[in-house]
Amino acid sequence: MTHGLAPYAADESRSRGRRYEESPSAYRGEYQRDRDRIIHSTAFRRLVYKTQVFVNHEGDLYRTRLTHSLEVSQIGRTVAVALNLNEPLTEAICLAHDLGHTPFGHAGQDTLNACMRDYGGFEHNLQSLRVVDELEAKYADFPGLNLMFETREGILKHCSARNARQLGDIGERFLERKQAGLEAQIADIADAIAYNNHDVDDGFRAGLLSLEQLREQPLFEEQYLEVQRLYPELEDRRLIYEINRRMIGAVVTDLVEASRRRIAAADPASIEDVREADGPLVSMSDAVHEQHVAMKRFLSEHLYSHEQKLEMTARAQRIVEDLFAAYTEDVNRMPEDYAGAAARLEGPERARVIADYIAGMTDRYAIAAHQNIAA
Ligand code: MG
Repeated sequence: MTHGLAPYAADESRSRGRRYEESPSAYRGEYQRDRDRIIHSTAFRRLVYKTQVFVNHEGDLYRTRLTHSLEVSQIGRTVAVALNLNEPLTEAICLAHDLGHTPFGHAGQDTLNACMRDYGGFEHNLQSLRVVDELEAKYADFPGLNLMFETREGILKHCSARNARQLGDIGERFLERKQAGLEAQIADIADAIAYNNHDVDDGFRAGLLSLEQLREQPLFEEQYLEVQRLYPELEDRRLIYEINRRMIGAVVTDLVEASRRRIAAADPASIEDVREADGPLVSMSDAVHEQHVAMKRFLSEHLYSHEQKLEMTARAQRIVEDLFAAYTEDVNRMPEDYAGAAARLEGPERARVIADYIAGMTDRYAIAAHQNIAA
């Protein structure tokens, strides 16, 4: 067992391993290797030009999917270390969790899903797994990145029963209603903590959220009153930042403490016990969870569906729809490798190649491709 890890942490010596056998690295652990492969992947580099909430070219200061993924990883690692869980594995899952995201954020994903309606649909989460399992073509000996089972298990956060049946061992837990390992549970919540907080920051900076609106949120108001008490003269920009860092701190502390209590109560002896548990063991206290969900709802009402964003959504929709239609009509409008693969296939498999190509695009690449097909 790796030194210092809790007995219920993921441990590479008891891992379910890689799909293609490989000899061990001389000085890196297996999950470190996974993390390194993810960082060196093409899909990871593209995240810098993919929308999180604000379209990449709307401003240089907003989060992109890359900076979002780094923030998720930073939060996840803190929690993993505090709970004596596997830090490199947590980091690997966090960095990879959004690799399958389309251009233009959720608008892009929803549109591509609609285009793929008759061909099995499109889920960004499943696509992240597809990227690391199939689409990254870098290694001579295998397709994809050939990651460890636990890393792949963490990347696949949710999955329909139909897709789970096609995925084999990695899909089993969705059919058997089992949990993922604790590192995967951390990555899932770190994602939600990261976006709740950075969207407050970005939304305020963009002028879409006001201090008055934010103060209606208990998570925000608690820290607002504290910061006002300590620094009554602080200007708005620093006030927001100071509140933000304290909100992250408060939620993460609650998450660590509540998870410790849940883990102690369930007393798992191994990762298998974690998987068999009735529910996730990494979670916030009920009270903080409620405030966290309220914030999420607030953001979706006031930020994600804001008029300025809706306009962007309509444009993203049109671009993705037009691209899908154009490539369906003539696969040779895609680059050679995609065109060649699509030409050999038909029906759902051919549509999947087109979806893979569109999903891999960055925002600006998609905009350029759209101008191209119109020309
Ligand atoms: Mg995310």
